[in-house]
Amino acid sequence: MYTNLILTSIISTIMSFSMPQLPYANNALEPVISQETIDYHYGKHLQTYVNNLNALVPGTEYQDMSLEEIIISAPDGAVFNNAGQVLNHTLYFLQFTPKQTQKEPSGKLAEAIERDYGNFNNFKKEMNAASASLFGSGWVWLAMDSKGTLHIVKEANGGNPLRKGMKPLLGFDVWEHAYYLDYQNRRADHIAQLWDIIDWPAIEKRM
Ligand code: MN
Repeated sequence: MYTNLILTSIISTIMSFSMPQLPYANNALEPVISQETIDYHYGKHLQTYVNNLNALVPGTEYQDMSLEEIIISAPDGAVFNNAGQVLNHTLYFLQFTPKQTQKEPSGKLAEAIERDYGNFNNFKKEMNAASASLFGSGWVWLAMDSKGTLHIVKEANGGNPLRKGMKPLLGFDVWEHAYYLDYQNRRADHIAQLWDIIDWPAIEKRM
């Protein structure tokens, strides 16, 4: 009994996935994303994915893996879904800032966007169109392949471009829970506003 308690405690110490700490107050992204949406989306939805993953993984082959390793190796199912959503939402919430220092990317990311999409406005149009046309729940990612080429990748449900060998840079959550309280069915309006809170230096560091 005592040994089991110690073991359980060691396993949960090793294998505990945790919530990202938001670098802004829950109301700081208003009016683009309301405090109510952050309270639910970060505080309830993401917390549930973290809790689910921490309940699923101990004692399995995934218990010593990083989130990224789980996403690459787990078959479709609960472990993959929850690991994907923990990583997706961590990238999502850490890509925003209430005080945008640049309206557009700079440096290597700006060069890659110009090379692969012609210019920033065209890239925005393509991200917006992909977000509007994704059927059902999912994510739209700007991702980079192993050669450094950029791709706009549509993923259903909790998908992540890591599974296609690409690095996720910027992610738009198009599940209704991301915008319904603030925009109801107007997904395109929500996505159009997101560009005002993107922390471009944070995105550039992901390259
Ligand atoms: Mn979400």
